Amino acid sequence: MARIIDAPLTTSESSGCDPRAVHETWGALDAAARRGLAYTPEVAAETAPLYERVKHVIPAVEWPAYAPLISAINTMKRAKNAVILAHNYMTSEIFHCVGDFRGDSLQLAREASETDAAVIVQAGVHFMAETSKILAPEKTVLIPDMRAGCSLAASITGADVRLIKERFPGLPVVTYVNTSADVKAESDICCTSSNAAAIVEWAAREWGVDRVILLPDEYLAKNVAAQTGIKIISWHGRCEVHERFTAEDIAELRAAHPGIVILAHPECPPDVMSASDFAGSTAALQDYVVEKRPAKVVLLTECSMSDNVASVAPDVDFVRPCNLCPHMKRITLEGIYDALANMQHEVVIPEDVRVRAKKAIDAMLALPKEKPRAFETGRAEVAVELV
Ligand code: SF4
Repeated sequence: MARIIDAPLTTSESSGCDPRAVHETWGALDAAARRGLAYTPEVAAETAPLYERVKHVIPAVEWPAYAPLISAINTMKRAKNAVILAHNYMTSEIFHCVGDFRGDSLQLAREASETDAAVIVQAGVHFMAETSKILAPEKTVLIPDMRAGCSLAASITGADVRLIKERFPGLPVVTYVNTSADVKAESDICCTSSNAAAIVEWAAREWGVDRVILLPDEYLAKNVAAQTGIKIISWHGRCEVHERFTAEDIAELRAAHPGIVILAHPECPPDVMSASDFAGSTAALQDYVVEKRPAKVVLLTECSMSDNVASVAPDVDFVRPCNLCPHMKRITLEGIYDALANMQHEVVIPEDVRVRAKKAIDAMLALPKEKPRAFETGRAEVAVELV
């Protein structure tokens, strides 16, 4: 079950629990000093506007540990013509203070394809860095920690997809962007949680079929099947963060916080989606909070998302489910600093794989840009065929 933390927060609370774990996850707070960086009056003045964006999660006493790294990273970005793509699950000092483009996988994929920068630093997990390299092969794409993986991406290989295609010839293969380049290369089109239902409907129409292969997330597949009525063949992959939310968590939240609005990500199990008030991608969840301004809300998704949305909706009271993604949390300020300083951990993809994977991503990006589609909650669970 998710651990629920109510506001107000300290930095360690917002990250998820045991301060020693936080220490290990984020690295020692003297990381700046070990890199010869100091909190000078100049650094304090330069970073003061950035602190305004994160003061709701970072206590003032901790800012001198972050500010020198932030200042040095932003200086290196200008010198090296680099940009940082920051996913919604990054901690706030990364997301708000060094990220040049922020958003969900789809938004970051579009930015990677359009940026003029020579260097992309992916503040996200490995499949996201691969997506950037696939779309921008002429650029140097760096990831601060090569170990930043993903349980969904690790669940399936390109060889698995080839076997599935042999078993179901003639059916379109839609793969979630949370997959390796190898898997994308075997696919007809990619999708994200923002557009999964629309793309499955599109694929069924284009191929003239009533079944679509949607890989590798079992729960996303079930949730899309419930929305679209299209029969889905899927895989047994799961997000290790979202699969932990339960319908019992929701009952407890409603009992403890009468009137709370519950928003869920579609990687959550179907009974969680059904019991929520609203469901959609991280972009859709943020749009909901910003537009509807619920008095009290809980986002059933990765821990840092609430911190990041809270900065643009300070009047909303967030109850924070503390499910951390251990892979996302491998990305730290000091890791980003080292990546830029040493131009290290470059993402490389064999050209034949990259070209085929790009076709699947391009097919997704070529479809009309639309607002992230919400998932209707309260729907009955629909079975999918798992292979
Ligand atoms: S939150 Fe889930 S889907 Fe996202 S990177 Fe972590 S394990 Fe993968």
